[in-house]
Formats: sequence, structure tokens, C-alpha cells
Amino acid sequence: MMTVLGCIVDQHNHWFVLLAALVCLGGSWVMARLFHRAATTDGVQRVGWHFMTAVAAGVAIWCTHFIAMLGFSAGTPIAFDPLLTGLSLLIAIAGSTAGFVLAGSGLGRFAPLGGGAVVGLAIACMHYTGMLGYRVSGLVSWDVSFLVTSVVLSVTLAALALQVGMLIHPFARNVMAGIFALAIISLHFTGMAAFHVEPLVLPGNWANGGELTALALAIAGMAVLLVSGGVASYLIDDRVRSEAAEALRNMSSGIVWVSPTGTIRLLNERVHELFGLDPAEARIGMPLAQYIANIGARCGWDDELVRRIVDAHFLWMAEPGVTRLEHDFDNGMVLAISCCPIAGGGAILTYDDVTEARTSERKIAHMAFHDTLTGLPNRAALSKRLDEEIEWARASNGRLALIGIDLDRFKEVNDLRGHAAGDQMLKVLAQRMGGLLQEGDFVARVGGDEFIAVHRLGGQRHLLEFVAQLEAALFAAIQLEDSDVVPGASMGVAIFPDDAADKETLIGNADLAMYRAKSDATQAVCFYEPGMDEKVRNRRALAQELRDALQNGQFEVHYQVQTTVEGGHIRGYEALLRWRHPTRGLVQPSEFIPLAEENGMILQIGRWVLRHACATAASWHTHYKIAVNLSAIQLADPDLPQMVAQILDETGLAAERLELELTESMIFADRERSLATLRQIKALGVSIALDDFGTGYSSLDMLRAFPFDKIKLDRSFMAQIETSAEAKAIIRAVLALGKSLNTPILAEGIETTDQLTVLRTEGCDEVQGFLLGRPATRETILDSGQLTHGRIDVTGQPREEAA
Ligand code: C2E
Ligand code: CA
Ligand code: CA
Repeated sequence: MMTVLGCIVDQHNHWFVLLAALVCLGGSWVMARLFHRAATTDGVQRVGWHFMTAVAAGVAIWCTHFIAMLGFSAGTPIAFDPLLTGLSLLIAIAGSTAGFVLAGSGLGRFAPLGGGAVVGLAIACMHYTGMLGYRVSGLVSWDVSFLVTSVVLSVTLAALALQVGMLIHPFARNVMAGIFALAIISLHFTGMAAFHVEPLVLPGNWANGGELTALALAIAGMAVLLVSGGVASYLIDDRVRSEAAEALRNMSSGIVWVSPTGTIRLLNERVHELFGLDPAEARIGMPLAQYIANIGARCGWDDELVRRIVDAHFLWMAEPGVTRLEHDFDNGMVLAISCCPIAGGGAILTYDDVTEARTSERKIAHMAFHDTLTGLPNRAALSKRLDEEIEWARASNGRLALIGIDLDRFKEVNDLRGHAAGDQMLKVLAQRMGGLLQEGDFVARVGGDEFIAVHRLGGQRHLLEFVAQLEAALFAAIQLEDSDVVPGASMGVAIFPDDAADKETLIGNADLAMYRAKSDATQAVCFYEPGMDEKVRNRRALAQELRDALQNGQFEVHYQVQTTVEGGHIRGYEALLRWRHPTRGLVQPSEFIPLAEENGMILQIGRWVLRHACATAASWHTHYKIAVNLSAIQLADPDLPQMVAQILDETGLAAERLELELTESMIFADRERSLATLRQIKALGVSIALDDFGTGYSSLDMLRAFPFDKIKLDRSFMAQIETSAEAKAIIRAVLALGKSLNTPILAEGIETTDQLTVLRTEGCDEVQGFLLGRPATRETILDSGQLTHGRIDVTGQPREEAA
């Protein structure tokens, strides 16, 4: 060490040493930057950058050596052999090129170390070749130990420098430059310490001092030029790159530029952010496979998955068009990934975080297919699911059960406890049902208080078990506010394909069965039964058509004559409604009146019948009464008296000619109110008849409570009147009752003359029945001449009034 220092201090011109050191440091600094730059490229570019690195290194090595040599005082004249000196420069550059290419080759972990060693050797070879061309006037001897030390130092330090240069650390480049400069300088001066000259005066062409200084400066200048060329190209490239990097940095997308050989050429910080990677885990110069493996390590992918994803990337890169896909990461992030291949190879990968967009899309999709209150799938979802299930059943010969569920008395909960309580009940029940679902089961809310469950048959759980669980869930008490409420439901089950061949029919049939369960207080669950439910289906279809019947003018009123028993004098006509259905023909009131009462149509229909009958009667210019039947619903309508008055007014029919018929049971429903309404109507002058007497309560109390204008004895007694003594006794009693109340009795359903004879014997007032006349259209009545003759014989034909 001391010898080396002594050599520098004693045998060198200090200015030259300083110059050499500056050249050495400057060259090394540029070399380090170029080397780093080379590491971030690949292919031809990388070789190009390595060559520039080698030139910078070679020039730094050689110029340092040469300038230092010029500053060396051998104590005797010197000269340079041009050939060997030139050769030494070549060795420096060629050896460095080889070393740097090896270092950046990626051949194993120690390639940089090996490459560095090669560069170190090149430094040594350069130095000693140069020394061979250094001619002195004297005897030269070498200290072998210094010589060996110098080579070892050079090789070791250069190897270390390149290894450090590969590190991704902000200081790596400067440290590399420093170590590299040390390698050059230590070799040189240790090498010079090994060099001894015994001066001799020898003949020769020796150089003089001034020439050598000029030469040193010229070489330094050349070094500066060469090295600054490298610096300039680096700076230009760096500038372009930093501009590009700046632009990339500001982009919201993650961008990775992959070279044709699959190394990363460029990437932005967004990539690190998106994948949560450290800068070292995704960097320029890194093989794509390594980069994906690093992402995989963050995401917990196994090797197999990483391999598949890497393969996929190379496939996309080879494809002609842009590949786009979305990937859901385990942390919930959704990335839109696109791979855009570049002409001539390589590709640009872009990553866009579309998590938010997808989440809101999913929310919207969820909303489209779910009920907001209960969170259960809605009707649309059910429809989709059923399509799939039916497809499954068809493909696999499987069977499905569809269970229609309708809550009982839900309206009551809503009305009595408020909507919040109703909502709460729905939520609890939905949650309970949801909790029962196993693989393949499905529950949807399809209406206010309607649900549908779908269940695959043949699974682990038997259908009956599932239905029983549903039933238990729907009937268990719910705590609403302070009190317990017991919900309840009616369920109808239909099986695909046994009960229906398609979705609509399946739902419809489950509905029919449910409807049956609803009307049967003893069972909550009904299974679809074709015969039983067909009737219901028919009724429903009819109810649907009933809505349009009035508008389409399908109703007509038929009139049935009412006469006195004695003499057959016409007293009036009962208006009986008929529905002339376009395909079913004449539909009887017993079929459609209950339907009209169920769906509320009866109010409109009843008003129409009343108006129609009154108008007809008014047009007849006779004193005959017109009897119109009322429904319980109409009687419950507080506007009924007003409506009656209005129609009388409109049609011009005298109130005394109108008789309204109603039954006991209608009055019983709400006795006080009904009687009040009837009194109002009676006050108009309209008479009131008690219809179907003898079938219901037949309560004397009722007869006393209201002064009926007529009692109509139900036609069921007529069939038995000739045979049954009991029937005869009842008729007799009713007739006696009528007498005592001073109320006329009309017997309905007279079909035979014998019946008429009996009634005459018993003293009945009036009769109505097929014997006297079937219900007929007003035209038929008009054409029959009944209205003008005023009397009827038992054949139904008008007969001449006895003079
Ligand atoms: P209802 O008020 O007891 O009407 C008498 C029913 O007996 C009529 O049946 C009539 O055709 C039938 N009838 C009359 N004579 C005989 C007979 O000798 N033998 C037999 N077997 N039947 C006879 P329809 O027209 O089918 O009416 C049935 C029921 O429909 C009526 O019973 C009435 O309760 C109801 N209804 C008819 N029209 C109306 C209406 O406009 N409004 C309301 N609310 N109900 C009506
Ligand atoms: Ca009647
Ligand atoms: Ca009747």
C-alpha cells in the first residue's frame, strides 16, 4: 500500500494524476448510467446500449491509464509504441463490450459478477499491453507480487461494480461508478508500483516533456468528447423517457410496454398502485413472467395459475387484434385488462380499475332482479330461474315443484298495525324462507304478499319436508312492536312436468291449488288436482271476461211474469239478468253473479240492470210492477237509495211500480244498516220483497223488524209440495204468517198445474214459474200480447179477460 502511495506521490506529476482521476471518475459515472440504461431495454437496443457502455468504460480505462502514464516520471527518456498503444485501446473496448454483454445477458444470477470479472481482466490486459508499448531508456523489471495484486484487484472490483450496478437502488449507479473507478485506478497504480526502471542511456527516438503534456491534454480532450457523446445520447434518451414517464405517470390506467422477447420496456407507477407492488417487483427490464409471478405472490395465485396467466399473455401478444378481458381479484377489485399487440412484436398492456363501475352495475342488476324490501329475488328473477330449472328438468328428466305462497290476512296487518308493521312481517317471513333454502331451491317475492318457491325433486330433502318447513316458517309467531302476531299463508304446489308442460301453466296451476287452499280453512297447503282446479281456472277466466262484458253489451235482461193465483192476472215481471257470452253462449246468473260480487263488478252491473229494467217497465205503459234483484254488496252500499231515486227519475218510472228483491242473509250481514237503507228506499215509494224465503233463517224476528211488501216462497218447496206433507205444512205456515202480517205471499218455481192447484187450495196470493212463463226478452213479452191482455192461463198464453 505504502509502495503504491509512494509510487503516486514520488513518481508521478500530480496534475496528471488529478486529470487522470477526473477522467476516470467521469468516464465511470457515464458508464454506470449507460449500463443502467441498457438494463432497462432488451434485444438489439440492449446490445447497442451495452456497446455504448463498453466504449465509455474502455475510454475511461484507457485514457486514465494513458494520462497517468504521461504523468509518470520514469527518470529516463520514454517513448510510446503506436501499435501496442492502439492495441491496448482496442482491448479495453472489446473486453468491456464482452464483459457488459455477459453481465446483462441474464444468464444466471452471477452473470453480472462474471461479466464484471471479464471487464476487470480487460482493464488488466489493456494496462499491461499498454506497458509493453511504453518504451524507456533503461532496464525494466517487474515485481510479480504487485503485478498479481493489481490483476486481482481489478478483476474483483470490476466484478463487484457490475454486480452492484444491477441493483435497483437509487445509489446503485453512483456506487457502481465509484467501485469501477477504483478498479481502474487501483490496477493502474498497483501496476505501476510493480514497474521498475534502471535508467541507461540508450540510443532512440525519445519523446520530450512538452510533447507528452500536449498528448495528455489531447487524450483527455478526446476522452471528454467521447464520453460526452455518450452522456448526450443518454440525456436525450433519458429526457424522452422522462417525458414519456411523466405522461404515463399522469394516466389513470396502469400501462406496461412489453418487448417482443417478453421483458418490460416501460411501465408507470399506476401499475404498482393497482397491484400493491413495490417498485422492485415491477420494473423496467424485468421479464414479463417474473412480473406476473410477483403479482401472483400478492394475490395468492399458485404456480400453476401464474403459469397459465403468463401463457395467456403470450397468446394475446401473438394475436392480431386487441384482447380485452376483465378479472375479478380476490380483494374485490375488478380490472379491465387489455393487451394491444404492437406491429413488429411486443405489446402494450393496460389496466383499468373498473371496480366502481362494476359494483354499481351489479347493484343495478341486483335491483332489477331483487325486491328492495325483502332482498329476495323478484318476479323477473323467478322467471329467469324457472326457465333454467325447466331446461334442467327437461335435459335431465328431472322434476320440479313450484310452490305458490299467499299470505293470509296480510291486508289486516297493514290496515290495523300500519305499513311499517306489514313491511316488518314481510321481511321476517322472507328471511325465514330464505334460511330454508338448500342447493337448487329458490324463493322469490312476486307480489305484495305473494311468494313463489321452487324446489328440485329427488334431492336430499323430500318435497313434503320442504313444504312443511315453509309452513312452519310462515305460521310461527312474529313479534311486531309489543305483541306477537301469528302470520299464515296458503300454499299451492304444482309439479313440472306432471302438472304442467311449461312455465306459465306451472305457475298458473300452483296458483289454482293455492286458491283452493285459500278457500279451504282446514288446509294451508293444496297440491294441484286437475279436475278440481280446472273449475277454478274456468271461473277465473270468466271473471276476467266479465270485466269487459258490460262494455261490450253482452248483458241482457229477461223478464218472468208474476201473476195472481186466482184468475191469473198479471201483477208484474221479475227482471233476471243474462250474459250472452260470445263463445260460451248464454251464461246463467248463478255462474257469474258470485264472480261479479267477488271482483266488485256487481255494483256497476246492478246499476245497469236496474236502469235497464226500469226503462223497459216505463216503456210498457201498464201498471205492472217490475221486480229487480239486489245483491248483498249493493245493499251494503250507502249510496243505494240515492242511486235508486236517480234511476227512477232518469227513466220516469213511478216508484210504486218498482220492487226490489233481497234475501234474509243479505240483511243479516249488517242488520241495522241494511234496515236503515231499506227504510230509505221504501220512503221513496219503492216496495221491498223478501226473496227465497224458507231457505235461510226464516226468522220471524226479521219479518217483524221490517214491513216487507211481499214474501217470495222459495221454489225448492214446490218440488215437494205434492209428495211431502212436511213441505206442505211449511207452506201452510208461511201462508198463515203472511196473513197475520198482512203481507202477500208469492210462490216461486211453479211448473205444474197440480202445484198451482195446491197453492190455490192453500190460499196463496201470487205465483211465478215456468208454468206461467219462462223468463223472456222484452221483445218476446211484447210480441206475446201479455201486456195488453193482462191475464195468463196455465199454458203461459194470454187469454181473454172474462167479460
Ligand atoms: P231468483 O231471484 O230466485 O230468481 C228466480 C230464479 O228461478 C231464476 O233463475 C228463474 O229463471 C228461476 N225460475 C223461475 N221459474 C222457475 C221454475 O218454474 N222452475 C225452475 N227450476 N226455476 C225457475 P235465474 O234467472 O237463473 O236466476 C238465478 C238467480 O240469480 C236469481 O234467483 C237471483 O238470485 C240471481 N239474479 C238474477 N238476476 C239478477 C240480477 O239482476 N241481480 C242480482 N243481484 N241477482 C240476480
Ligand atoms: Ca228473485
Ligand atoms: Ca227467488
